[in-house]
Amino acid sequence: MTVIDDLIEALGTDVVLTGDAIGGRYRSDASGTGRFLPLAVLRPASTEQVSAALAICDRNRQPVVPMGGLTGLAGGANARARDIAISLERMSGVEDVDTAAGTMTVLAGTPLEVAQLVAETAGFLLPIDLGARGSCQIGGNISTNAGGIRVIRHGVTRDNVLGVEAVLADGTVLSSLNRMTKNNTGYDLRQLFIGSEGTLGIVTRAVLRLRPLPAARLTALCAIESYAHVVSLLKSAQRGLSGLSAFEAMWQSYFRFNAEALNLTFFDKAYPFFVIIEQDVDGSDEDKDRFEAFLGQAFDDGIVTDALVAQSEKEARAFWSVREGHMMDHLLPGLINLDVSLPVGQLDDFAGDCEKAMLARFPAAHVSFFGHVGDSNLHVAVWTETPSEHEIDAIAYDLVRTYQGSISAEHGIGTLKRDFLDHSRSEAEIGVMRRIKTALDPNGIMNPGKVIPPR
Ligand SMILES: Cc1cc2nc3c(=O)[nH]c(=O)nc-3n(C[C@H](O)[C@H](O)[C@H](O)COP(=O)(O)OP(=O)(O)OC[C@H]3O[C@@H](n4cnc5c(N)ncnc54)[C@H](O)[C@@H]3O)c2cc1C
Repeated sequence: MTVIDDLIEALGTDVVLTGDAIGGRYRSDASGTGRFLPLAVLRPASTEQVSAALAICDRNRQPVVPMGGLTGLAGGANARARDIAISLERMSGVEDVDTAAGTMTVLAGTPLEVAQLVAETAGFLLPIDLGARGSCQIGGNISTNAGGIRVIRHGVTRDNVLGVEAVLADGTVLSSLNRMTKNNTGYDLRQLFIGSEGTLGIVTRAVLRLRPLPAARLTALCAIESYAHVVSLLKSAQRGLSGLSAFEAMWQSYFRFNAEALNLTFFDKAYPFFVIIEQDVDGSDEDKDRFEAFLGQAFDDGIVTDALVAQSEKEARAFWSVREGHMMDHLLPGLINLDVSLPVGQLDDFAGDCEKAMLARFPAAHVSFFGHVGDSNLHVAVWTETPSEHEIDAIAYDLVRTYQGSISAEHGIGTLKRDFLDHSRSEAEIGVMRRIKTALDPNGIMNPGKVIPPR
């Protein structure tokens, strides 16, 4: 009997897809770097089925790749032809909203947006939020420790996960579905599965922290003359705007490209920097007055040169459409989007050095910068006529190492950044990662080849 026969016998053919039943979408995550369809795709409907599947695979030394919504940008969910994929797509749904505690218990395959809407209906905000919300899954968000646009106010995914249920490589179900903020009872096992990109187990359920739902959100687009002024605006917004929920900066070339592509004009000239500021508020008239007074003060102080306050949801969407940059992805096929982290004060120095280094190697490259500046997270968008991802990565990550930054702020390591992990992590740290991996997955079946570089 083959491992596939074992799996079919235990789980049935509706769970185990093979051959032509495997659709092309299982080939790659959103990085577009996946090349193979897996040997089989398992679509379990319960934790018990995940456990049975992993126990069989472990006995047979069969490598498995967990798949969430496949929106990852680091190649973490890509399978090789000999791997078996375990997709969480049928384990979807919110099981419970605890309104007293402000928590929700969610199955790992639940799309983020579905969980957000259930939270909203119950009068809460699920603060994890990112552009891929319609397709990415809670299990994928946990496994990548996703960041996104609300981190400045509510932290990364790690800060919003109270408990996790996960299945280990040998099929052991580890239920750490804690619901309390305080729980100092030994090792915090949920942390093993947050950000480990499916290399230590499969997340099947989670308890998420909810926040009060803001009544309204105020949004402004600011034009700024220098990076020093961007930092000053950030500092004064952190001091003066309670409920600051986004602070997103765009360097001129990024802003101009996307605004022109969308046929949107906001200001009479192209300033060096543009910042979207958002504040969550109660919804009173005074909130708007205070927001405008804050911007007026920044203008008087010479920090902001011009600013537009969105008068409607539609206007706010227009600001965000430039920031989200979908037109750039569309018009520059093969665009490489790097995701790095550096001390806030150094983001622009890094951007200048990075652009110089890219242009020295690729004189016709289009290089632009944007990011969650409030979280010291810079995205570098690089397009060249002859895309050479490894070379572009090496230029950027060598520079990140010089700046003592992180080669991955929020997208994770997957396969694409694996060979650069030592640019941001010491030998001792990578050594401990290997020891944890061996302890939890002695046969090395969980998402092999991802995150941890080979010896
Ligand atoms: C348009 C767009 C915008 C994005 N914006 C952001 C952003 O602002 N911030 C950000 O951080 N990311 C962003 N991303 C990246 C991506 O959406 C996140 O990494 C997301 O968390 C991945 O979730 P997923 O369900 O699609 O996971 P997948 O891509 O399916 O998987 C990602 C990794 O997690 C593992 N995995 C998935 N599910 C499980 C599970 N249940 N148990 C164990 N391991 C699992 C996979 O093996 C893989 O290693 C964006 C992507 C796109 C396409």
